Amino acid sequence: MSDVDALAELLGPSHCLRTAEEMAPYAVDWRGAWRGQPQAVLKPGSVAEVAAAVARCAAAGLAVVPAGGRTGLAGAAVVSSNGPPAVVLSLERLNRIREVDARDFSLVAEAGCVVQRVQEAAAEAGRLFPIAWGAQGSAQIGGMLSTNAGGVRTLRWGNARELVLGLEVVLPDGRVLNDLRRVRKDNSGYALRHLFLGAEGTLGVITAAALRLVPALPLVETAFLAVPSPEAALNLLGRMLGSGAEVIGFELIQRVCLEMVAEYGPHLRLPLPVASPWFVLVELAATHRDVPVRRMLEAALEEALEAGECSDAVLAENEAQRRDFWRIREDFPEFSRISGPSIATDTAVPVSAVPAFLARVEAALAARWPEGRMVALGHAGDGNIHVGLKAPPGVTREEWVRRAGAAEMAVNEIAVALGGSFSAEHGIGVSKLHAMQALKDPLALEVMGAIKRALDPRGVMNPGKVLPRC
Ligand SMILES: Cc1cc2nc3c(=O)[nH]c(=O)nc-3n(C[C@H](O)[C@H](O)[C@H](O)COP(=O)(O)OP(=O)(O)OC[C@H]3O[C@@H](n4cnc5c(N)ncnc54)[C@H](O)[C@@H]3O)c2cc1C
Repeated sequence: MSDVDALAELLGPSHCLRTAEEMAPYAVDWRGAWRGQPQAVLKPGSVAEVAAAVARCAAAGLAVVPAGGRTGLAGAAVVSSNGPPAVVLSLERLNRIREVDARDFSLVAEAGCVVQRVQEAAAEAGRLFPIAWGAQGSAQIGGMLSTNAGGVRTLRWGNARELVLGLEVVLPDGRVLNDLRRVRKDNSGYALRHLFLGAEGTLGVITAAALRLVPALPLVETAFLAVPSPEAALNLLGRMLGSGAEVIGFELIQRVCLEMVAEYGPHLRLPLPVASPWFVLVELAATHRDVPVRRMLEAALEEALEAGECSDAVLAENEAQRRDFWRIREDFPEFSRISGPSIATDTAVPVSAVPAFLARVEAALAARWPEGRMVALGHAGDGNIHVGLKAPPGVTREEWVRRAGAAEMAVNEIAVALGGSFSAEHGIGVSKLHAMQALKDPLALEVMGAIKRALDPRGVMNPGKVLPRC
């Protein structure tokens, strides 16, 4: 019996995909940039099955690539094309919410739960699970944690890591590490969960997580603003943070992004004329209905208009309009994808350095790749700006990568020089291995390699990802 036959017997043939056609969606990443053919796609239905499948793969010398919603942007949930034979292990059948405890402000979800489902379960209990971003309707808890996803509310509650109380993980040898506790304080040695958060499946398979919830926000006010410059946006952010309400979102959007929305998303109504060089989407909220959030927002905006930090503003009048504002931001990655090839980046700098970062990047890109079009937007409230360099019409992805691929490192280097990061929220996967090699502290890489070898001496888990030499 072949190893894959044995896995099919273990999980049941319908939970072990083997034909190229069945496996096709798992053999390519969301952007269509990374491809790799698995030997099989496994869909275990319980923690015990995950453990048995991983142990079996380890014994057979088959690598294991965990997959969640496959919305990752670093090529990490796809088998490495030049790596050892591997299976994709999809967590989609482990999708139960095991427990919601409103008094404890916690929720225990299995790794295959779609993030939006977790948000809904929290809301049903009168609580909020605050991580949110455009792909939340497809991304899963396991993928969110393994990439330490950020999203639009990081400025208020941090990345996914900050919201994890405990984890259940299948280790590379098939043993189950049960650290699924909801206790808030526990200094009994190393906080092991943090090893697996952001590890992109290279240290084990997350099967469930105890997540921290926060008070619900019955009052949310959202505004779409025209701002003259990133500097003005930064001043505006400071003003909003001092408004008295909670600032839960602050997105900076370059004009070209709205031009692309107008072109590729004619069903979306732009709230303001596309006349300003920059726009801001800001969201303020409160945990109690009596807090005058609207007045606080209006007062802050009046001051901002007077100070020249903002030239025009539209406030959402209802929930439908609020959602429309957000769709402009959240659907943008899809419009960008269909509008043609782009050199993408995922940088973060200290919030105060955002204007300098954008100015330096603009100058560097214009000087070396004048035929490209810089596209910038991001979670400016936490310093995470995504800069892309779009190809001129008619240029293929391969050709553009050949001509302008170095733009990515040019942007990364500027971020690092300003005290920032070349990987803010998408992870390393395969797409940033070169940056990891060039820009990460060699000692940090050495320590990471030691951790990898200690937990996964046979290199079973997601080989070829995150660490340049492992
Ligand atoms: C339109 C769009 C917008 C996005 N916006 C944002 C954003 O604002 N902020 C942000 O942070 N990200 C964003 N992303 C990136 C992506 O959605 C996140 O990285 C997400 O967390 C990935 O979750 P997933 O379930 O799709 O993971 P996958 O893509 O399936 O996997 C990602 C990584 O996690 C590993 N993995 C998956 N499940 C497990 C598990 N159970 N155990 C161990 N390892 C596992 C995989 O091996 C891989 O390394 C966006 C993506 C898209 C397509």
